[in-house]
Amino acid sequence: MCLFRFDEVIYCLESAFVISMEGMYPYHDVMENTHPKKERTLVIIKPDGVQRSLIGEIVRRYERTGLKLVATKMLIPTSEMATEHYMVGGEEWLEAVGEKAAAAYAKKGQKSPFSTYRENGLAILKANATYLSAGPVVAMVWEGNGAIGVVRKITGSTEPMSSDVGTIRGDFTVDSYQISDVDSRSIRNLIHASGNAEEAEKEIPIWFKENELLNYRHLNEAILYDVNLDGILE
Ligand code: GDP
Ligand code: MG
Repeated sequence: MCLFRFDEVIYCLESAFVISMEGMYPYHDVMENTHPKKERTLVIIKPDGVQRSLIGEIVRRYERTGLKLVATKMLIPTSEMATEHYMVGGEEWLEAVGEKAAAAYAKKGQKSPFSTYRENGLAILKANATYLSAGPVVAMVWEGNGAIGVVRKITGSTEPMSSDVGTIRGDFTVDSYQISDVDSRSIRNLIHASGNAEEAEKEIPIWFKENELLNYRHLNEAILYDVNLDGILE
């Protein structure tokens, strides 16, 4: 409510409107779109997850956190689509994933068979495209406060063998860098989950059109996010 002291009128104005270079917008509209509860992340149940009959189990684990499912579809990705998906991180991702693989070799006292991180990254990219396009996958977008981090925490780290107990990758499979390298294939870790906000923003449009991302209010949100818990008591 606006009182008539000068500073309070200014405060009241700032609360009611967001003033930007483009103009003045109602505070509520702007905050609704940028509010932390609107964070979105891409999850893909990879072909091994579908073949292991883990769709329901995986969805259950994300769903029970209170995150909201805003898009989902089942499809068989092409190898080109899979390559585009993994290359959203560009050269930086190639280097980083190669470096991560080299560090895993070093930790086990082994020598990487690749002469550069990039070379290792390229081999991983090629194997990933083959893996992701091997059969049906389930793509989903989950929304909620800290959605990217929450999903990564529940998913577990990249290598299932060293993923924590209680995570999806730790609980439901046994794959390791070592065995996947022996057989020159991608490590099968059931799920893809966006690594950060930039990745999520670039990945989601590869899998979903704008009109496939649904805007709706889930009843859970009142308890998770509403400022006042009105309506509980009769
Ligand atoms: P994620 O975000 O935890 O899935 O891991 P990355 O983004 O670093 O890598 C993408 C995918 O590439 C992983 O999910 C694995 O399937 C595969 N991958 C990553 N690092 C390695 C590796 O060192 N060796 C093998 N064989 N596959 C890897
Ligand atoms: Mg990743």
